[in-house]
Amino acid sequence: MLAFRGADRSRCWNYDQVTLMSIEQSIRKRSLWFVDLDDTLHDAANGTLKNIDSAMTEAIQNILGVDKKKADFLRKKYWVKYGATVVGLNKLHNISVSDFLNISHSQKILADLNLPSVSFSSKIKRIKGTKWLVTNSPEKYAMSILNHLRLQKCFRKVISVEKMKGPGGLKPKPLIFQWRRLIRLAGVHPTEVTVIDDCLRNLRTAKLLGCRTIWAQCFNKNDVKFRTQNTRPFYVDKKIKKFSDLFRI
Ligand SMILES: [Mg+2]
Repeated sequence: MLAFRGADRSRCWNYDQVTLMSIEQSIRKRSLWFVDLDDTLHDAANGTLKNIDSAMTEAIQNILGVDKKKADFLRKKYWVKYGATVVGLNKLHNISVSDFLNISHSQKILADLNLPSVSFSSKIKRIKGTKWLVTNSPEKYAMSILNHLRLQKCFRKVISVEKMKGPGGLKPKPLIFQWRRLIRLAGVHPTEVTVIDDCLRNLRTAKLLGCRTIWAQCFNKNDVKFRTQNTRPFYVDKKIKKFSDLFRI
């Protein structure tokens, strides 16, 4: 009986050891990267997105019959509240997601984009592991930018706003629901996932699940409080100012 107990404890000890080792290995592995697009891989706020913002405001004016000031207000308000303007328009005004995205991201608008510098984000190709692009932008727009940046082969998957589905409609970042869904879809433990994003609220919800979080400060000039101080929010593991900083992580 004693021998049995001893053997049982030994098995338990071995099991704990194996479990600890596998957790450590998975933490070291960090095999999956969720990478944001706008203001992470390219300078969207000061270049590319200006055209898109104008197109979205104009589309809202035409669809809702409001003036430019009101349309601009709604565009920003829904982006802040839902993570993507189209979600608010769909939820509160019953506007079709595909109709709005087709109008606001038409072929002509995509052809006239103020395209970003190609060289900046190319270093991301050298990062080991599987990479998914996770963006609240529509797929056509995301693919245009990726093609221009020559990064289309860099990402195993492109998760655009249309693919961020959930109960009752689209559930984009920063909802924890979406991070959990994507991690489940990838079939990995949250500790194996690294999220790179310029938007702090996206990082905050990813951290709640246990992901590693990297704050891309390459372009976005928001969140001045943390930028001007040499500090970071508790849910940010690392800050980077350029992609080559990733090789030191
Ligand atoms: Mg972004």
